[in-house]
Amino acid sequence: MQNISFYPGPSKIYPQIAGFMQDACQCGILSVNHRSQAFVEVSKTTLELLRNKLHIPDSYSILYVGSATECWEIINQSLVEKKSYHIFNGSFGERAYFYAQKLSADPGLIISHLFDVESSLDIAGLSIPEDNEVIFVCQNETSNGTALQQTTLQQLRAKYPDQLIAVDATSSLAGIELDYHAADIWYASVQKCFGLPAGMALMIVSPKAQAKALALHKDRHYNSLVSLLEKIAEFQTTYTPNVLNIYLLMRVMEMVDDIQVIHQRTQERAATYYKTLEGLQHLKALAENPQVRSQTVISVKTSDQSQIARIKEDALREGLILGNGYGKWKDNTFRIANFPALEAEEIQKLIVFLQKEDTQLKA
Ligand SMILES: *Cc1c(COP(=O)(O)O)cnc(C)c1O
Repeated sequence: MQNISFYPGPSKIYPQIAGFMQDACQCGILSVNHRSQAFVEVSKTTLELLRNKLHIPDSYSILYVGSATECWEIINQSLVEKKSYHIFNGSFGERAYFYAQKLSADPGLIISHLFDVESSLDIAGLSIPEDNEVIFVCQNETSNGTALQQTTLQQLRAKYPDQLIAVDATSSLAGIELDYHAADIWYASVQKCFGLPAGMALMIVSPKAQAKALALHKDRHYNSLVSLLEKIAEFQTTYTPNVLNIYLLMRVMEMVDDIQVIHQRTQERAATYYKTLEGLQHLKALAENPQVRSQTVISVKTSDQSQIARIKEDALREGLILGNGYGKWKDNTFRIANFPALEAEEIQKLIVFLQKEDTQLKA
């Protein structure tokens, strides 16, 4: 029996992927030219399905890119002339900030704003300079299992209507419903909530960000927004894309429920995890404040940090792969993906494991 991966990416892929891969090999799509009509049909269908199932506004462009990491580069290279502002409480938000600094001619103009893991981001307390160009936030901070609420992003949008807002939604997009109008750029790679093999990401771009990219016309990079937008108008990419993953994405989007149904299920499953942890003695959610907890990545701490490695080994013996801690929380937490491809029985198995493990910690 194969182990069940609760790693928050790459994570368990949809079991149907095996069949979809065979179909991809047999139907010939993997050998077609990426400028051919056959490819364009698949790409067009994929984008339509994404738009319908995830409720992405018609006016927003959906782009295929290589990874979420690449999105940090694209946004900085295509949309920032001088100034960007980075709001974060964990490692992924920080990594976006580091990329911005490295790509800037004047890193002193790249500003970071750290907030506490236990507190909701205080929008009223922010004072972002008027002439700042892009505000970066991480909707779901995979390193510590915290998330920004929809209302927080909406308040940020309302307070800064003129600046571009870029949202890292890598570990939540396709797992929860997002209000795309609350920001200009949304991005996610497919090995998290999409339940697909790694090697591709999606970037969702508002009309305002499209206009800004065209106006700045920073096209020195193969994946500049200018070039990507030009090609996607014909359902294509600037480079030979990951055709297999685009095909698999099409099949997965055909198969999955509407995002509102998935959202509901994700919420219920997250509530079960948090309720379970609240009933335990030694295993606890890293974030104590329920308001800041992620629905898609559960970060768990123990009263005795030296037990983390043993817990992961015990889990593996039962066929359950837990995610390592990340960044600052590498040694004192483990992480659990609450992604849609995981099944109810698998989650139940993990919950029973956590309860059993907690009693052993007592002993
Ligand atoms: C996984 C992850 C990334 C990096 O994704 P890649 O596909 O490896 O580039 C970025 N941000 C967040 C929040 C993530 O969870």
